[in-house]
Amino acid sequence: MIKTSILDAGKLQEFTKERKLQPFRVKQIYQEVFKNQNINFADMTTLSKDLREDLDKEFSVVTLEVDKILEDESTTKIWFQTHDGFMIEAVIIYHRQDEKYNKNDEKKLNRITLCISSQVGCPMGCLFCVTGKLGFKRNLTRDEMISQIFYANKYIKDKFGKQDDGTLFGVRNVVFMGMGEPLLNYENVKKAIEIMLRQEAGFSLSKRHVTISTAGIIPGIRQLIKDEIPVKLAISLHAPNQALRDKLMPIAKAYPLEALERVLSDYVKASDNRIFYEYIMIKNMTDKPELARELVTMLRRKLAHVNLIPYNNNPAISLTESDAKDIQIFKKILEEGGLTVTVRDSMGRQMKWACGQLWYEKLTKEEE
Ligand code: SAH
Ligand code: SF4
Repeated sequence: MIKTSILDAGKLQEFTKERKLQPFRVKQIYQEVFKNQNINFADMTTLSKDLREDLDKEFSVVTLEVDKILEDESTTKIWFQTHDGFMIEAVIIYHRQDEKYNKNDEKKLNRITLCISSQVGCPMGCLFCVTGKLGFKRNLTRDEMISQIFYANKYIKDKFGKQDDGTLFGVRNVVFMGMGEPLLNYENVKKAIEIMLRQEAGFSLSKRHVTISTAGIIPGIRQLIKDEIPVKLAISLHAPNQALRDKLMPIAKAYPLEALERVLSDYVKASDNRIFYEYIMIKNMTDKPELARELVTMLRRKLAHVNLIPYNNNPAISLTESDAKDIQIFKKILEEGGLTVTVRDSMGRQMKWACGQLWYEKLTKEEE
């Protein structure tokens, strides 16, 4: 039997009414889930034993099954199985203070980012992306997206315990850079963001710590403007001109670069938010100096930050990561053109493993 999600506030109200529980119990339950980072009712010791047992019969906190976990020093990669048998993935990324990538304002021992999936597979079919190769199965629900955070928070709590200030370690940043195109699952993503940001029955994340990454779905971006969704926006640009973008991303035909630029300029005007441009570095394809110069022309005078992502090699796709020296030359041209640029480093590189790459790794491991 599929249990009801604990986030179904209506069902939880009903449950408490039937048992003639006082209204503050609902608040207490959500405190256990969001603040104490519990996902098993048995661990919720601020609730009576009877209540815990009753809740357990009807509700679940995480609505996904964990299938497998792989871990290295800087990441934990989690595969979840949905109730209807699909696999999705999330990645926890640990930013450690001793690493040179840390900004000075990040004094904490760990800043923890979670990369979540928004769909099973993806319909966009980008040339370089393994998720694209899987095709699209379905959208994830709000609660399936939130479940990835619930599980990660419990995992992090068990691994790291409390911070110096006595609060638990947990996810501080969420990025929609796992499987799927978040703006094609707009309503559920919007609802998931509400829970991420809100204080009551939510994670109280800062709006600056949530990032939507999109391949450039223009109606979705328009809707973000209209709904005044306050989180950060990353655009998977990957090419500074229409011809190259067409080659890499079939979606570019439906939403051409010029139209995309117009909507992004509206977005900047409306939100005053800087846009993050993701640009993938593929050898002999996207990494030529003349493309860097084109990118400068395109983004100069815009509120923009460029993130160069070395292409993540994988045997399913015959593309190659750019040479380090070509990435440096490319970066230098952008900087000389007045753009702010980061190159996704070896730690950040784990993050791109989220985009279908994990799936591939698992498949090949199982074949061995
Ligand atoms: N669909 C959304 C969000 C998920 S993809 C989007 O495309 O933005 C997250 C990021 O991983 C995107 O910037 C995507 O272009 C990048 N990515 C996909 N495959 C990659 C690969 N093989 N190497 C490096 N980055 C990759
Ligand atoms: Fe989909 Fe993003 Fe992969 Fe393109 S890069 S196929 S939009 S997940």
